[in-house]
Amino acid sequence: MKDRLKRLNKLIKIVLKQNKFYIEKYKKLNLAKILPINSPEKLQKLPFTNKEEFVTDQEKHPPYGTNLTFSLDNYVHYHQTSGSLQKPLVWLNTDNAWNRIIGDWKSFFKEAGLTKRDIMFVASSYGPFIGFRSAHAAAEDTGCLVIPGTLQNSLQRIKNILKLKATVLASTPSYALKLANIARDNNLDIRNSDVRIIIQTGEVGAGVVSTKKKIEEVWGAKCFDIYGLTESGGMVGYECRMRDGFHFNEGQFIIEIIDPETGKPSSEEGEVVITNVNSIDNPVIRYRTGDMVRLQKKPCKCGIKYKKTLRGILRRKDDVITIRGVNIPLYDIENLLRSFNEIKEYEIKIYKKQELEELEFNISIEKNYKEDIKEKLKHSIKEAFNIRVNINLKGDDYFPSEKLKVKRIIDLRKQVPGNI
Ligand SMILES: [Zn+2]
Repeated sequence: MKDRLKRLNKLIKIVLKQNKFYIEKYKKLNLAKILPINSPEKLQKLPFTNKEEFVTDQEKHPPYGTNLTFSLDNYVHYHQTSGSLQKPLVWLNTDNAWNRIIGDWKSFFKEAGLTKRDIMFVASSYGPFIGFRSAHAAAEDTGCLVIPGTLQNSLQRIKNILKLKATVLASTPSYALKLANIARDNNLDIRNSDVRIIIQTGEVGAGVVSTKKKIEEVWGAKCFDIYGLTESGGMVGYECRMRDGFHFNEGQFIIEIIDPETGKPSSEEGEVVITNVNSIDNPVIRYRTGDMVRLQKKPCKCGIKYKKTLRGILRRKDDVITIRGVNIPLYDIENLLRSFNEIKEYEIKIYKKQELEELEFNISIEKNYKEDIKEKLKHSIKEAFNIRVNINLKGDDYFPSEKLKVKRIIDLRKQVPGNI
């Protein structure tokens, strides 16, 4: 901690001279009382930063915003968030930051047992999405053959994975399942393919026990969960060989776990707040991620001493459906649905019908399903969450197969009546 605080103080010193975003943000603070930051308690005196602030800043100061410590010509890597819930955030990286991210990937590869003999297939049209773009670069740097899966549909990707003898697949969890379904429908055997490692990033799914189990079963491979944000300037965490939750990257980040309501420290479960002590170029200081975790208490058998989560990200802070006064975490829904082997894909719609809130599940299922799946599912949901739902069976074409991240919740309650 001492070393990280030292680096943080150095970072803040530079940032207060050159970074307009933090100069403005901290201008009303009595920094003389806070600096130097020599303890976690002192750190807590700095205000949180959140994504909304960066998005607003970029709107006010287009196109790149003011969280840039150096002049624009130092930044060479363009990224942006997928913007699934809000406006996309643009994030530029210097070569320094980029090399740090590549270094983090390589540490993970070492832990996962990935070597230069591996062949990685990146199953995504990733464009400015930092996760897969940096995985690609890091794997090449390791000496792997890397196959970009851009500009291909799902069936072409599966055929290429098999034909080109890929041993590592990089994809989102939902897309790994989607590929498996399409392979089965086309009688392509992926379970006995060369794929032995699946690297999962971009979604919460890899931390959902039944989703991960299903992916490992259908692919006959080991699944590793990676945790990072476009704006984190480094990999925030990755799973070790135990594969039961990721370790935080405490060589680079100061990690705080807080109660999302009060902002006070929480010892076991809460929202992840990150401070990257190396990211001078575009700092994230006490940055609220919105991601909820529970920490493991026992030291990990792998030997890594850094804090470790139980099952990875439990949920995003806002990933809760509130219906008829009942709060249901999406994690629990995903876990329940994935325990039904017949279910391939799902989507949940919430709407109002004559002022009553209704929940509708649209699901696609395996070809040889049993007719009673609707009743079985209804019963399980009623038992788990004490709510009644409508269930519709949909064809595979109902769910778009090429999307990087699947939109599973469609809340129509705030829309003008008559839309449903
Ligand atoms: Zn471990």
